[in-house]
Amino acid sequence: MAALTKRTASFQDLHKGHVSEPEARYSGTGHTTPNDGVETSEKRNMLLTSLMSQYLSREPQAIQRQIVNHVEYTLARTRYNFDAFGAYQATSLSVRDRLLESWNDTQQFFTERDVKRVYYLSLEFLMGRYLQNALVNMGVRSNFEEALLGLGYKLEDLLEQERDPGLGNGGLGRLAACFMDSLATLNYPGWGYGIRYKYGMFYQKISAEGYQIEVPDYWLTHGNPWEVERLDVTYPVRFFGHIEWSDKGILWTGGEVVRAIAYDSPIPGYDTYNTLNLRLWSAAPATEFDLDSFSRGDYFGAIANKEASEKISSVLYPNDSTDAGKELRLKQQYFFVSATLQDAVRRFLKKDRPLTELHTKVAIQLNDTHPTIAIVELMRIMMDERGYGWTASWETVQKVFSYTNHTVLPEALEKWQVPLMEKLLPRHMQIIYEINRRFLEVIAKKYPGDGQKLQRMSIIEDGYPKMVRMANLAVVGTHCVNGVAAIHSGLVRQNLFPDFVEEGYQIVNVTNGVTPRRWLQQANPALSEVISRWLETDDWVGNYEYCKGLEQYVDNADLQREFADAKMVNKKTLAALVKATFGEEINCDALFDIQIKRIHEYKRQLLNILGVIARYNKLKRMSHAEREQQVERVHFFGGKAAASYVQAKNIIRLITGVQHVINADADTNKYLKCFFMPNYNVTLAETLIPANDVSEHISTAGLEASGTSNMKFVMNGGIIIGTMDGANIEIREQVGDDQIFIFGLHTPEIEDARNALKYGQYKVHDARLDEAINQIKSGMFCSQETAGPIVRALEPYNDFYLVARDFSSYMEAQDRVDAAYKDSSSWIKRCILAVARMGFFSSDRTIHDYAEKIWGIEATPFVPGSISFKDPSAKA
Ligand SMILES: *Cc1c(COP(=O)(O)O)cnc(C)c1O
Repeated sequence: MAALTKRTASFQDLHKGHVSEPEARYSGTGHTTPNDGVETSEKRNMLLTSLMSQYLSREPQAIQRQIVNHVEYTLARTRYNFDAFGAYQATSLSVRDRLLESWNDTQQFFTERDVKRVYYLSLEFLMGRYLQNALVNMGVRSNFEEALLGLGYKLEDLLEQERDPGLGNGGLGRLAACFMDSLATLNYPGWGYGIRYKYGMFYQKISAEGYQIEVPDYWLTHGNPWEVERLDVTYPVRFFGHIEWSDKGILWTGGEVVRAIAYDSPIPGYDTYNTLNLRLWSAAPATEFDLDSFSRGDYFGAIANKEASEKISSVLYPNDSTDAGKELRLKQQYFFVSATLQDAVRRFLKKDRPLTELHTKVAIQLNDTHPTIAIVELMRIMMDERGYGWTASWETVQKVFSYTNHTVLPEALEKWQVPLMEKLLPRHMQIIYEINRRFLEVIAKKYPGDGQKLQRMSIIEDGYPKMVRMANLAVVGTHCVNGVAAIHSGLVRQNLFPDFVEEGYQIVNVTNGVTPRRWLQQANPALSEVISRWLETDDWVGNYEYCKGLEQYVDNADLQREFADAKMVNKKTLAALVKATFGEEINCDALFDIQIKRIHEYKRQLLNILGVIARYNKLKRMSHAEREQQVERVHFFGGKAAASYVQAKNIIRLITGVQHVINADADTNKYLKCFFMPNYNVTLAETLIPANDVSEHISTAGLEASGTSNMKFVMNGGIIIGTMDGANIEIREQVGDDQIFIFGLHTPEIEDARNALKYGQYKVHDARLDEAINQIKSGMFCSQETAGPIVRALEPYNDFYLVARDFSSYMEAQDRVDAAYKDSSSWIKRCILAVARMGFFSSDRTIHDYAEKIWGIEATPFVPGSISFKDPSAKA
């Protein structure tokens, strides 16, 4: 592991006076992007220098004044009467003002140092709420708290006013968000690029009958104080059209042009002055539209056409694996890729140098295959727009890009129909054919007569219609492919791309991580305080490895008690949420067992709920005295099902049905309850995760690439019950066998087990399972319409996810959990050791790995006083 970087500048330093030196300040003219070099006259420069040499004060009184000013002048409301939401907005704007200072400085600094940057391209950024994160990262939380108290507001209440921007489905989008936090914290020069969806992930309601209902999430209703709209940063993006060949070269013209507008959100690092940028693109009508082409008299028709362009960035596809075939989805991908590359190339070319050197200043990470068309787009830009030859362009492209694979599920590998690609992006389709032709030519020479190999490796899949395999394109067009956990990277090498590995294509592993800022320090202040008290520092927040220091106190009764107390605080918070949501009381001494993640058959929420039913049946048969011997439990579920994923919705309906039956049973509900928490998102996760005793990560082995919520739960002092899958395996290596409860088949056993079930060579014998299945069949929890498909999926021939097959092993593991929980002093030791040993799963470690192994970028902490003003008379 790389040594962690020393930070040289923090907000604290800069506000202790370094920056009252005027030369520390960057003067912007306001009509260029923050990182752009600016040319101003000397006189104007001096004026700006004197005006802007003062940074905003951190004094609570000054903050108060600024908040009130925003209420009056930005929100145009009266300062004598503003509600909590107004206070939230004004507070956020005041925080943003400060971030703009550090952000402008950082970008100017990067530009002057001419550093290599990484651009993280992701169709999803699941950022969660901003305000608390920004305050804590900047180290100004208490200043704002005090300022707000003076105005009659509790910061806590204002935090609750913020909408959670759900611009992602799940793990993939949240990973991008954790990476932004770590990039900023570690002072790496990086930007995030994505789409500013008007409608994020749908809001999930549960109907009175227990079904999922999807409600559109118009998160921008009351604006977004964290973004800066940059009407000046805008690029045209073309779709459809045709290709013209001339002696000047190849020209893609006609079709439909939309405009991408940049929306920037500053990303503050923790305990550093460095501030990065998340640039999200919004689609708008192209103003440079050829007005003559509108047929006279069809004024409204012409406008309607323009309005249609806004659809491109209007809605996030709410499916976390596949949306193949949807033209709008492909449009979204090309839209944000095209705008991003125009932006990146423009920034690079501000210094006069050839694009063939792009890789020396730019690394681009493709988060899954969603942005893979970027490989082709950069080829097009270099060849058609800049006149480079094929070889020079291709070599540059390969050096610039790298690709992260997130799944080995065959149905989730992106493919696009050739006819659709031909129609929407005709020039790109030509280039893809040429990439493929050259690639296969080499392979064919090497393996004469091996047609099957060619078919497997081809970027184009034969069939009707032909398909473009985006994963193959991503492997061929990048210098590095990575998987996201050790087992996953192995499967990518062995099962997904073995032919490519044979040809020397690099597939490395970079195990995922999560940011300890949001997921421990901010989500769990009670535990964070305990950790800081025992380590006598809060340096662990910026360097999680320091938590190792807790291990020496694991037998200390005071630490154990404080750990248990912190857990109780968090369980009470969750209990209050349950009370508010369902009106039900729960016992906080009970074991809290949590499974929250997207609802998917491979994640096996079904296995969990079958276990709950079996536990209920067992309790029902017991005497009162026997029940009193049992570990009391509350099971929490949460997660969204893709709107079109019928079986996932059936599973939600089964869970809510079980919840209804067992929570109402007066015989047993002291010992067992279960809740489906509606609308799982980052904010809900921040309440649930700190309250876990046990969390379930029980995917069919080989199918969960990594998982990241498993890491969040353990960092919060919980114990995993899980399969040998994804990052569970590495978590076990780090925390030790006693700190994790493993069950179930291992990956190498899966295929044989599936076949043995299918062909009747293996029969599942478990009376508890049979009983549960019969109850489901009988309509005890849900209608036949729901029960039928669930029961069928458990039949040997259909049990692809091996739910029935792993059931006995799962129940046995839950028994081990109960036995361990009964011994409360050894349980709390397990929790302490778990927290202490999770350093490896900080996204700081992950980002260091990417920076070193893949991107070749360097930590560049802002140096106070280092930014110079541009002298307009000097030649750049
Ligand atoms: C961490 C996180 C995920 C990923 O969860 P997994 O259990 O790893 O699939 C999904 N959604 C949200 C809101 C998260 O915070």
